[in-house]
Amino acid sequence: MQRLGVFGGTFDPVHVGHLVVAVNARALLRLDRVLLVVANQPWQKSDRLVTAAEDRYALVAAAVGGREGLEASRIEIDRGGVSYTADTLEALVAEGELFLVVGADVANQLLTWERPDVVRRLATVVVVDRPGAPAASPALGAGWRVERVETPHLDVSASDLRRRAAAGLPLDGLVPDAAIRVIRERGLYARA
Ligand code: ATP
Repeated sequence: MQRLGVFGGTFDPVHVGHLVVAVNARALLRLDRVLLVVANQPWQKSDRLVTAAEDRYALVAAAVGGREGLEASRIEIDRGGVSYTADTLEALVAEGELFLVVGADVANQLLTWERPDVVRRLATVVVVDRPGAPAASPALGAGWRVERVETPHLDVSASDLRRRAAAGLPLDGLVPDAAIRVIRERGLYARA
């Protein structure tokens, strides 16, 4: 049975911090594949306009490129509607043993997600810590399988990148080159 990493996000836009997490989680946990799952309608981000899902998917596909063991996943886009991780894990569980990769900030919110019991049953939660600064263990309770990995934390966030692009500042080095080309071709993020 293959070991399958599930790394979900809005990826608006994808950045080098995401890639560092994906490749290091794969190496440290010996995952066969890590899926970067692009949220269709992220339920946590309903307070702002999110870039079209197909555009965000194109960015992730370009960023992943031919990197071994990484894949852009459009499973939530093809399902449509609001994206819940529980549904995604149910759809993927036949493919292998599931490892849900989350930043420490996200791990603490897991119990507020839709159907957390499904998440608990179907996946091991992989909490990504900053080297030398492990976050407090998420208060998940009994029955949760949790693994921790340390990966370099790059001080980059999608919201900061959107602000930079809107201000006409370059994204070079912060977003993989292939994804920057897609941003330019499609005229995303205003002045990127
Ligand atoms: P935003 O700034 O818009 O909230 P984001 O950069 O945090 O976006 P998301 O798509 O919301 O990106 O995050 C997807 C996952 O990536 C989450 O689990 C988050 O914790 C993690 N993540 C985001 N940025 C980093 C980073 N610089 N280093 C490590 N993990 C990150």
